[in-house]
Amino acid sequence: MAENIDLNTKKPSLLGLTRAGLAEALRAIDTPEREIRMRVAQLWHWIYFQGAQNFDVMLNVSKVMRQKLAENYSLTRPQVVEEQVSVDGTRKWLIRMAPVDALDKGAEVECVYIPESDRGTLCVSSQVGCTLNCTFCHTGTQKLVRNLTTQEIVAQLVVAREMLGDFPGLTPPDNGLIPSGEGARAVSNIVFMGMGEPLYNFENVRDAVEILSDGDGLSLSKRRITVSTSGVVPEIERLGLESGAALAISLHAVRDELRNKLVPLNKKYPISELMQACRDYPGASNARRITFEYVMLKGVNDSPAEARELVRLLKGVPAKINLIPFNPWPGAPYECSDWETIEKFSDIVFNAGYASPVRTPRGRDILAACGQLKSETEKLRARARLAAELE
Ligand code: SAH
Ligand code: SF4
Repeated sequence: MAENIDLNTKKPSLLGLTRAGLAEALRAIDTPEREIRMRVAQLWHWIYFQGAQNFDVMLNVSKVMRQKLAENYSLTRPQVVEEQVSVDGTRKWLIRMAPVDALDKGAEVECVYIPESDRGTLCVSSQVGCTLNCTFCHTGTQKLVRNLTTQEIVAQLVVAREMLGDFPGLTPPDNGLIPSGEGARAVSNIVFMGMGEPLYNFENVRDAVEILSDGDGLSLSKRRITVSTSGVVPEIERLGLESGAALAISLHAVRDELRNKLVPLNKKYPISELMQACRDYPGASNARRITFEYVMLKGVNDSPAEARELVRLLKGVPAKINLIPFNPWPGAPYECSDWETIEKFSDIVFNAGYASPVRTPRGRDILAACGQLKSETEKLRARARLAAELE
């Protein structure tokens, strides 16, 4: 059933529902069973292909049906409460979700858009905060508030496309470096590298991938949807089997002793088990490589010996390596490796036959880079609680 509610009208939103969810919503308003398939297809097209914001525009849906839908449901989307645009064209949006129940004040997540000449990547969040505490990650210092629903994950793309003017009838903002021209799409790639650990919210992430990649709607290619995990080994195979999304592993260290410190989840699922899960990942091949992310921390994990060990570790895995310069945040206990050190590390990896692009930091001026996202939701909640106590 629909989960997000329009605060003003108290009507649940249909945006972000799966086909099964839409069918259920239609049954709940007594739509005859023989019509359900057709109605779901109509709603799907309007909501996900056209980006409809209300039922009135759905001209091939009968007037009676449109009225009935509007009486019972909404197409309310989460609200963009703040937009920041970097000098390099990166955009960061603070998105406030509609409350899921009477007690919920509306979670806030950050979502980042990174335009490049040949692609536009949207970095989405899967949770508000994170239960894991990777020591180099700003999100890791924020307690988990909750999992995002499937609706809320999907809505991040819908809202982004609205902000970028990328639905029929909308115009792109004129201050944007947004890919355009024949067949170009403002958002061509999605990475689950925002806030949260996607594999701790497995079902919702899986269902969201299904909606995002549906060819009759938002139509992103599954090859261009990447789920990044810090290494939740028991869920990795399932991700391949049930979603077919591309996999990225936040490795960051080649020895258990160090990885235990950087990514404490490693104590539960050590490197050998993680690598085995990668070797077994359904659908991985030379054409569909697994990305290994490696954050460059000065004097911590950036020696030539570690680069060589990384190469050894990845033997037998169809892999790409992504070296990420550490993005500092206020109070962070690390520094980014020197450029020279990063180059040396990258050369060793490259000479072993891996393309090893160093990820260019984007949006640094607006704190939009990887691992810097941290929302104010926690504070807001504390404030709301306090206010309630004082009432
Ligand atoms: N929880 C998932 C996905 C979100 S984090 C995961 O850990 O994979 C997305 C990526 O950003 C991960 O590779 C993470 O290790 C990296 N990251 C976190 N903090 C960072 C920082 N301060 N600088 C650079 N990369 C960071
Ligand atoms: Fe969570 Fe990923 Fe940050 Fe680790 S790196 S704390 S898993 S969001």
